[in-house]
Parts: sequence; structure tokens; C-alpha cells
Amino acid sequence: VQHKIMQSQKMETVSQLAASISHEVRNPLTSVKGFMQLLQETSLTNNQKNYLEISISELDRAVKVIEDYLTFANPKPCSAVKELDVQEEINQVVKVLRPLANKNSVRLELSISSIHIIANQQYFNQCLINICKNAIEAMEEHAHGVLAIKTEKAKNDIIIRFIDTGIGMSKEEIARLGEPYYSTKGKNGTGLGMMFVFNCIKEMGGTIQVESKKGHGTTFIMRLPLKYHTNSKETDHAH
Ligand code: ADP
Ligand code: MG
Repeated sequence: VQHKIMQSQKMETVSQLAASISHEVRNPLTSVKGFMQLLQETSLTNNQKNYLEISISELDRAVKVIEDYLTFANPKPCSAVKELDVQEEINQVVKVLRPLANKNSVRLELSISSIHIIANQQYFNQCLINICKNAIEAMEEHAHGVLAIKTEKAKNDIIIRFIDTGIGMSKEEIARLGEPYYSTKGKNGTGLGMMFVFNCIKEMGGTIQVESKKGHGTTFIMRLPLKYHTNSKETDHAH
């Protein structure tokens, strides 16, 4: 029992530490980028322009990687695992994604109700964001894209469905989902978003299913226990 407590405390510490590191790293990156953009306004040789462009795109990449893990990082120490109202969390995520949805002319349709789960807030919201961001990005080229998010309460689980009308995936593409650095978005992608999602859902004792048809759209079905169980039990047996 003692071992289990220590492990879950360790997890909390790791998540808080990561959160504060993200804050400490993201702020300087943003300010460096700002100064580089100011430099771009000055008279420069072609070489210098080129170096600056590369530097800025590398900075953007670093920020993208951080954002696949730590969009909701909170530098204040707070208990990460707590009771969450899924409706409130989805609304919060939608607020963050609204500008991207508008940019891609994607309509968001929410059919969500107040369901309580026990989970790590930062990780749970990051999963929602990574799935929804992919869905919105999959509708970039589609007129009248729609992302529907639906919740349903089962006996011991919550089911959250994310249904998009985007480009869809082939069987081969589905098979590679969650593989580190697998991305079809070139320099706009990190290939880390789904890996994070899969790891978190597993850690939370849930499952995720995908149904997709090339050219038609994709549905992700996330199923989570209403109560949080860490996988530390498994680790106990391993010892
Ligand atoms: P990234 O978004 O940085 O490319 P992810 O790990 O988030 O990396 O996603 C990996 C790949 O899975 C994407 O590049 C894309 O090809 C595919 N994918 C994920 N979600 C969807 C979706 N809703 N519709 C179509 N393709 C998707
Ligand atoms: Mg992604």
C-alpha cells in the first residue's frame, strides 16, 4: 500500500514539475520569437533573412511540441487528480480551440451533459485538445466541416465521441496512429499528439476506438471509468 501511495505522489510531482517547466520554457521562447520578428523588420542581407526564418520556424516547432503535452499547464502547484465535470472541461477546451475552428470554417456541435469523473485535469484536457485539434485540422480543406462532441453516461464509464467530417484515414494510417513522430502534416505536425492521448487513456484505465473512412471523416470513441484507477497496481505485481 505504501508503495502505491508513493507512486501516485510521484506522478503528481512529475505532472506539476512538467507544468512549471513548460511555463518557464514557453515564456522565453515567445519573447525570443518576438525579438526575432522585430529583427526581420530591419534591413538585412538575404543570408541573415534566411537564418532568421529558419530560427523562427525552429522556435515554432519547439512551441508545438510543448503544446502537444502542456497546453493547460498550470505553474501553481495544485492537486492534479480531482473530481471534474466533463461538460465544464469540454467547454474550456472549446474556448481554446474556437479561433482554430473559425480559421478552418469548422462548426462545433456540442451535445454534452454534466457528468463527473475523477481524473488528472491537465492530462484529461490535453487529450481532448489533441483529438479535437486533429479533427479541426482534418477539415482544413473542407467547406462546411463539422466537429460534433457527444457525451454519454454508461454504468461505470463515460463515453465521449468526437465525430468529424474531415479527410479521414486509410487502414494503414489508422494502424500507425499513436506511433511517436508519425505525422502526415510535414513541418506543421509533431506526431506526438496521439501518442500522448493513447498513453493517458491507458493510464486512466480507459480505451479509445477509431472509425474512419478516407474522404468521409473520422470518429474517435473515448471510454473512461467514472472513477480514476492508476496502473500502479500492475507495477506492484511486477515487483
Ligand atoms: P500531428 O497532428 O502533429 O500530425 P498526431 O499524433 O496528433 O500528430 O496525429 C498523427 C496523425 O494522425 C496525423 O498527422 C493525421 O494524419 C492522423 N489523424 C489524427 N486524427 C485525425 C483525424 N481526426 N482525421 C484524419 N487524420 C487524423
Ligand atoms: Mg495533432
